[in-house]
Amino acid sequence: MLKLTRAAVVAVGILFVVVIGSCGGGASAQAPLSIGAVTAAPGTVASGEIAIAPRGGDTGASIPFTIVRGKSAGPVLALIAGTHGAEYVPIIALQRMRASLKAEGLRGTVIMVHVANMPSFLGRTVYYSPADNKNLNRVFPGKADGTLSERIAEAITREVIARATHVIDLHCGDGNESLRPYSYWITTGDPKVAEAGKAMALAFGLDNIVVDGSRPTDPAASVYLSNTAITRGKPALTTETGGMGIVDDESIGLIERGVAGVLKHLGMRDDGPGPVATPTWIKENEVLRAGHTGLFYAAVAKAQTVTKGTVIGHITDFHGAKVEEVLAPFDGQVLYVIGTPPISKGEPVAMIGK
Ligand SMILES: [Zn+2]
Repeated sequence: MLKLTRAAVVAVGILFVVVIGSCGGGASAQAPLSIGAVTAAPGTVASGEIAIAPRGGDTGASIPFTIVRGKSAGPVLALIAGTHGAEYVPIIALQRMRASLKAEGLRGTVIMVHVANMPSFLGRTVYYSPADNKNLNRVFPGKADGTLSERIAEAITREVIARATHVIDLHCGDGNESLRPYSYWITTGDPKVAEAGKAMALAFGLDNIVVDGSRPTDPAASVYLSNTAITRGKPALTTETGGMGIVDDESIGLIERGVAGVLKHLGMRDDGPGPVATPTWIKENEVLRAGHTGLFYAAVAKAQTVTKGTVIGHITDFHGAKVEEVLAPFDGQVLYVIGTPPISKGEPVAMIGK
């Protein structure tokens, strides 16, 4: 026989409300999340650093991060800035987001890596780390016993990408690159992951999307940060907003809008902007590389429309003699062009998209 006291009826009622509330919210409570020695309890924000110990004569590095842990379960979105240390717009965007993004109302978790490549950031270098002359975004998934860039990559793979369900690698034009905003949508690998990546690109909202089917599919040789996530079955995106070492509100705003759009798309927040309605899909692109070392003079601007044979710029030797003219290989637009004089043979001078 079921005989309930008044108190028991109230208790059952409360339990019922809690269960309904939980179903209605589409999420359940979640456990704390830890990276290294730092733990973020549900509903809290915690920050710390991943320490990369010195090895083989280098000084090691630290990777500062923040965990914003929602009270209820959901996706784990990793936002990574400073893979290239002179790409300041994403770094400053995450500094602002550290202050503005609240755990309250968040379903799931946001992990921010504030400066992935600290040696390059503090050393003020483009492309390459001053510690080992390697490009961090070419050594993933990294090596625990490797050079400093390789160890940083290994730590990001192990501590951040392994915990994430979705990844955005936030780039801009490097300190020498004049760049128009665009995203890379990587189409290689599992088609389901690629489709989810496409939806993330649309949700981020940049209206030019480079379709990239050239990334490796081997998780042990993923090369690029976002591709390290993709080859592990996690949808990921690489974004490009800003450049030339300039910190500008317009480029930062594109990241803030983009992350808000992805949070809404993934169901992590109720509010946020919708996806880009009419993106330009850039199905073909070419990075034009210097055939000579010397001084580069650009003849075009970012976002400029060019036709096959348009002069993109020229290279001189160190006595002023023209040694090379760089021409557009097809009709398209300038996604980025080098905006400062130094140029070494084999380095990019521009990227043209079709
Ligand atoms: Zn970059």
